[in-house]
Amino acid sequence: MAQGIGRGLGQRFGTIACLLLVNTACTTASTPAPTDSPAASTLGVSDTKQDQNQNFTNQGKNQGKKVILTSFTVIADMAQQVAGDKAIVNSLTKIGAEIHGYEPTPSDLRRGQQADLILDNGLGLEKWAEKFYGNLRNIPHITLSQGVAVIDISQDSSAGKPNPHAWMSPKAALIYVENIRKALGDLDPINASTYNANAATYSQKIKTLDQQLRETIATVPPEKRFIVSCEGAFSYLAQDYGLKELYLWAVNSEQQATPKQIQQVIQRVRSQKIPVVFCESTVSADAQKQVAREAGAKFAGVFYVDSLTTANGVAPTYLDLLTYNVNILVKGLQEN
Ligand SMILES: [Zn+2]
Repeated sequence: MAQGIGRGLGQRFGTIACLLLVNTACTTASTPAPTDSPAASTLGVSDTKQDQNQNFTNQGKNQGKKVILTSFTVIADMAQQVAGDKAIVNSLTKIGAEIHGYEPTPSDLRRGQQADLILDNGLGLEKWAEKFYGNLRNIPHITLSQGVAVIDISQDSSAGKPNPHAWMSPKAALIYVENIRKALGDLDPINASTYNANAATYSQKIKTLDQQLRETIATVPPEKRFIVSCEGAFSYLAQDYGLKELYLWAVNSEQQATPKQIQQVIQRVRSQKIPVVFCESTVSADAQKQVAREAGAKFAGVFYVDSLTTANGVAPTYLDLLTYNVNILVKGLQEN
């Protein structure tokens, strides 16, 4: 929510055409990038890092590799797993960014214009996407949630709209991977066999983890299987594993729990004797800590949903993200 305060999108896009022209001259003078390990090439955490991403983009062009831009870090990792070393993958939004309310910058548009393909989540996650694509010239984009069985949001002002967090279901993630495999193969047929093989290997890892998470959650007695978060981001995962979901707000773009929402969650946590509550990494946990205090529960940690962590954090990949979330949930439910 912090990006672009006080500046309308129209105003920002108005400056972009000239910046694109400037960039054409600037990028050819870029120095070569260092190594292109997946972890390093995927995500940006600072301006310096973003400069590096720019260099990776240029390097990809120089090596004849296709350059894939994704809307956020989680699907960047998925795409990187499928791409392997045959394509360059970057995330438009940086690690830790609040993606629902994101507003693209002129630099983002430059990166978009230099990509061969853009991958987004869809389901209303990228509210900025339509305008962003409208300002690019002939850059194809693919929506990775195509084919997923959508769960609608059931409460708040977003009720009836699709819940965008489908990637939180490993089963849905298999559809994302298949969409990535097809998209990369169509874009770059010469490397299609590698993309097919990488997608098969990665899908097997996702299936294995799905089974492990199911077994882990099964160790919690059914009546204790609650997941309490700030954002309603766990509907898909909860459906997969038979968890009951409670949250303060439906999607982060409306973050700001009302006193009524907070009181409702406090009542439920208290009445169901739910021992632990959590909040996501990209938003303030203050309201959830209030829930914990007033309901006699424990604030037991931070979930990773809308962003990965850096390589030395707890969730540098999508598989790590799922594993970490389920482990702290189950540990919290069992120990408290
Ligand atoms: Zn979210």
